[in-house]
Amino acid sequence: MKYFALVAAVAQLNLAVSAQAHGSHQDMDVEVKNDITSEALGSGIYLFKGLGGNIGVSVGEDGVFVIDDKFARFAEEIITDIRALDNGPIRYVVNTHYHGDHTGGNAEMKAAGATIVAHDNVRKRMGMTFENRILGRTQQASPEEQWPVVTFSENMTFHFNGQVVHVSHMPNAHTDGDAVIYFEQANILHMGDNYFNGMLPYVDVDGGGSLQGMIEAQSRAIDMIGEDTQIIPGHGPMATTADLVKSRDMLVDIQSRVKSRMDAGQSLDTILHDNPLVEYADLAGGFIDLDSMVRITYRSLSGK
Ligand SMILES: [Zn+2]
Repeated sequence: MKYFALVAAVAQLNLAVSAQAHGSHQDMDVEVKNDITSEALGSGIYLFKGLGGNIGVSVGEDGVFVIDDKFARFAEEIITDIRALDNGPIRYVVNTHYHGDHTGGNAEMKAAGATIVAHDNVRKRMGMTFENRILGRTQQASPEEQWPVVTFSENMTFHFNGQVVHVSHMPNAHTDGDAVIYFEQANILHMGDNYFNGMLPYVDVDGGGSLQGMIEAQSRAIDMIGEDTQIIPGHGPMATTADLVKSRDMLVDIQSRVKSRMDAGQSLDTILHDNPLVEYADLAGGFIDLDSMVRITYRSLSGK
């Protein structure tokens, strides 16, 4: 079961393109469908759902502004779906972080005219090959044509389609290059993978992320928005501010359950055996199972 959950995590987050290489589809708890559906959120802003990270799209008089672009193999469909909404120029794509299920369509979006924008560390990570010990595999560098061409270190603001669009870096959270994007007038927030709605979150500890950073990112986001903000999570259905508060409180609880055992001198194996997160079993199995969540928390806290 653990193996399948981990395979599912790898495939869904980064490797859906090569799902077949892992074995027959029947063996895997992974949906390999391309269908992208859109949901109108108001103010010319749309959510594109489907396999890979959730996409945010703003269309209007200034053209098209996109947040994340799933996998390369969906790029044609994504562009067709954007064109069905608006024929204006695709001006910008902002990547919320470097993972392939959020940046895979960058080259095709560039070819369609977009400027790819992301935090400095997104470009850095996309150029690196390094070991991912949580997922037990090597994170391969992305082809250079996918790399962002405009990068920022802290915050950035777009004035586009009548919106003030706040792009805020969240340090060492899901990765070391996360940004959350808030459309001020529309009151819509895209959390990237600093929020998995309805499932335990993946934290890319080897990619510079930490559970503490993700808790901090969610707290900062909660402070930034109002109670009636529409929230696009990196994965999962649309959420409310109350949902995000619940998620933040859950992560704080998860952290304290593991930390108290670490403070008592328990080893990782003992903590895993104790199953301290069993209360959250109904949120496991999407990407991250209970043991993986314990490992992520342990490594975040121990720095090992
Ligand atoms: Zn991610």
